[in-house]
Amino acid sequence: MPEILEVEAARQVLAACALDREIARVHAPDAWFLKRGTTAAALRHALVGASFTAARRTGKQIVLDTSTPSVRIGVHLGMSGRVIVDGTEAGDPLVYASNRAVSKWHRFGVHFADGGTFMLRDPRRLGAIELDPDESRLGPDALTLTVRQLDAALGTSTAPVKAVLMDQHRIAGLGNLLVDEVLWRAGIDPARLAADVTADERRTLQRAIRTALRVMTKRGGSHTGDLPRDLDVPCPRDGGALERRRIAGRTTFSCRVHQR
Ligand SMILES: [Zn+2]
Repeated sequence: MPEILEVEAARQVLAACALDREIARVHAPDAWFLKRGTTAAALRHALVGASFTAARRTGKQIVLDTSTPSVRIGVHLGMSGRVIVDGTEAGDPLVYASNRAVSKWHRFGVHFADGGTFMLRDPRRLGAIELDPDESRLGPDALTLTVRQLDAALGTSTAPVKAVLMDQHRIAGLGNLLVDEVLWRAGIDPARLAADVTADERRTLQRAIRTALRVMTKRGGSHTGDLPRDLDVPCPRDGGALERRRIAGRTTFSCRVHQR
């Protein structure tokens, strides 16, 4: 499933390959994929004859700015969406094992006047395209998260620390796998109340987030963490038994020994 690292990889492909090319046609065959009142007709009106001018990202939301003043396109990859520009596919193929080159899964895309294409291929159809997305509701981006921002996000919340880290309004970009990984690295029990995470632990957690995202980017994506998601495998740090629970509605793995 695409996490922030895969979304950033998709953004980089868009930024490198999809900008400043005139859009000749819009491919939007699936009304269900268009969200928040967006229609195929509105997308055609906004995009034909224009070009994308920037590919930005906050958390897991990509925003394409366009040469038409005030027109922006929100791109959500969902659970299986993949960006393809001129046949180049963003992200590690392992993450996208279910995402084969099947054109009926092209839920949205554009044909450029130069003959190339940008397509969003999404077998599970859980991604979305929207015109003029609301960018104000997302918290600070996880890839550049500071101690101060993490401290503000955790605050005095009485929710489990895992729930707060996954709340996109508080911190944008951390999904289930990444949150388990960073809490394991920081030695913090995912069920602890956010308010009870000490100042020292918050600093440790911020470093764990930055380090984990950097290391996993180098390794190739969000599936390359060190925390095994398998109860038959001992904790790589101390050999302790791993635990599987449901926290914040999600399957959660942690170490019984070193996560407190
Ligand atoms: Zn451990």
